[in-house]
Amino acid sequence: PVDILTVNNLDGGYEVFVGKRKVFVHAVDNVSLTLHENEVLGIAGESGCGKSTLAKMIYGAIIPPLVVRSGDIYITTRNSANLKLNRLSIDEIRKRIWWLEISYIPQNSMNVLNPLKRIKDQFLNVFKYHDIEIDKEDFMKHLREMLNVMGLPPEVINAYPHQLSGGMRQRVVIALSLLFNPRIVIADEPTTAVDVVTQRTILSLIKGWRENNKSSLILISHDMSVHAYMDDRIAIMYAGNIVEIGNVFEVFKEPLHPYTKALIDSLIRKGDRTIRKGLMGQPPDLINPPPGCRFHPRCPFAMDICRVKEPPTIFLDKDRYVKCWLYVNTR
Ligand code: SF4
Ligand code: MG
Repeated sequence: PVDILTVNNLDGGYEVFVGKRKVFVHAVDNVSLTLHENEVLGIAGESGCGKSTLAKMIYGAIIPPLVVRSGDIYITTRNSANLKLNRLSIDEIRKRIWWLEISYIPQNSMNVLNPLKRIKDQFLNVFKYHDIEIDKEDFMKHLREMLNVMGLPPEVINAYPHQLSGGMRQRVVIALSLLFNPRIVIADEPTTAVDVVTQRTILSLIKGWRENNKSSLILISHDMSVHAYMDDRIAIMYAGNIVEIGNVFEVFKEPLHPYTKALIDSLIRKGDRTIRKGLMGQPPDLINPPPGCRFHPRCPFAMDICRVKEPPTIFLDKDRYVKCWLYVNTR
């Protein structure tokens, strides 16, 4: 498969004050991954593991206190240009990348619409922002099409956000992000604030759009059932690291990392209270992460080396790796 996005050794986080002390929240720790053409790459992990920060860094939305300390991001645009994203200025990213090549569906997207503007004017603004001229008829046609893609009736065009339900507003925001058929869409928990039925509807609509357009989706979610439904490949994040990545069927069938196993167990046991056992221990501390393997305080298989030395990344093939000492001598 062709890679359209490559992330090499990306590292960063938040410089914040705790009282008078400046601390670094190390949310993304030396992350490398690739995104193929025409695929869904899921990013899974508990809240606070760095998923959203990774998404923002890839999108280029680096707003203090977020800082990128090192690493490179390359994309191949739809006209086959290879660009190093972190070499572009924020103005160039705005003009050339956002909405056109990469779109971002933020968390709590139902709240990002301007409450004072009708839906059609919110769409018109995106055209203006990119200095794209379009006549009124074409614009209305395209707008109706995009709303239809997200299963919304044409009346929505003239509505104000407060006249729509949360699920409808969320679909409007998603339609907006797909306006120019971007090659890459990054969706951060696109359906967490809605009920389960609406969630399934929205996910199927995104899925349908993506398959038709052969675009690629980076899907951030803490919910493993969402990943099982949507992903081609899945990356598991823990304390700023990607600890395992692979084809979604392989990872669900034979999870390698103990943390991946725990996540999948919690999915299978969900709802069955008699045998439900959550993951023991505290979620990761990104200010003072544990030494060695960051998962060691919660890992049932932890060995002496795990407590002192960071595990290496073991590649099983180009698209499957695991970061765990258990696999060092056996493969
Ligand atoms: Fe557990 Fe050690 Fe593997 Fe970390 S490296 S997940 S502590 S076995
Ligand atoms: Mg998040």
